[in-house]
Amino acid sequence: MTIMAKGRYVIGVDLGGTWTRVGLSDEKGNFIEKINEKIDTRSSEAISKQIVKLTRFLCKKHHVNIAVLRGIGIASAGPLVQARGVLINPTNLPFKRVLLTEPITDELTTPACLINDCVGAALGENMFGAAKDLDNHVYITISTGIGGGAIVNGTLLLGKDGNGHEVGHLTIDYEGRLRCGCGKRGHWEAYCSGRNIPNFVRMRFEEIDEKMVKRSLLFTKLKGDLSELSTAGLFAAAKAGDSLSLQLVNDIGILNAVGFADVVNAYDPTLITVGGTVALKNKKMILTPIRKHVKDHAVNRIPKITITPLGKDVVIYGAVAAALRYLP
Ligand SMILES: [Zn+2]
Repeated sequence: MTIMAKGRYVIGVDLGGTWTRVGLSDEKGNFIEKINEKIDTRSSEAISKQIVKLTRFLCKKHHVNIAVLRGIGIASAGPLVQARGVLINPTNLPFKRVLLTEPITDELTTPACLINDCVGAALGENMFGAAKDLDNHVYITISTGIGGGAIVNGTLLLGKDGNGHEVGHLTIDYEGRLRCGCGKRGHWEAYCSGRNIPNFVRMRFEEIDEKMVKRSLLFTKLKGDLSELSTAGLFAAAKAGDSLSLQLVNDIGILNAVGFADVVNAYDPTLITVGGTVALKNKKMILTPIRKHVKDHAVNRIPKITITPLGKDVVIYGAVAAALRYLP
């Protein structure tokens, strides 16, 4: 039987698009265990019940008394109202409202707090990752969507409801050729996110010489069915040396550089760390064109731009960091 060292423990929850990840950590961000379950979407109440169930499971397994937990930090994609611990019309879940902190606190009699996933990730990076001791840091995710979190002069910027830094919806194409998931046109996320890169590629196919498209590895692998285009397929073809795919990846990188330059101009960070599945799976192909072209648009001194050392765990570290920062 493992007897846990004395001290207080924290639960971090990463509520993503598909998975509920719950981790038990000490107060220094050392995880004892992290577990995943598919998000229980049978009802909006089922999600908080699932977090309670997984918290009980982890605490029991590791002999941590729930009564002495420091608390539970939940980092979730928004939109959300942080002060009320509720998601409002969340993009990833089929509910109008998902109440999180109140039912969890009531059930476990332990405090809970909610934070936007990318804002939390910035805090996690600041407490446990590459931005330790930095007063000016931005975290950017390039994943299914694009988002960010910013620490300026040592202050985590939140906005009125905790939804600050929706940088994925910065306009990078004033002609608005592509429509974003939010309904508006020309947003960064509509061109460069995992969900929308296929739309960007289809648009570029219309503009590029047809012969070049048709003899590319990317096109031949699709056997003419452009609906089968995927972000993973584009990066795989680029890694195989397909010149058209390499050009498209570079085009995406130039647009990413516009978004990064906007962030540099707005927040003047010392460091930008980058996470999210698209960036983590294609580190060099994502970072190289950004580093090369950000100076074409930024007026402020260019910060260091690097992949987060916290990898796919950056959001769950952020959830733990939020609990440590906001709970008594
Ligand atoms: Zn948008």
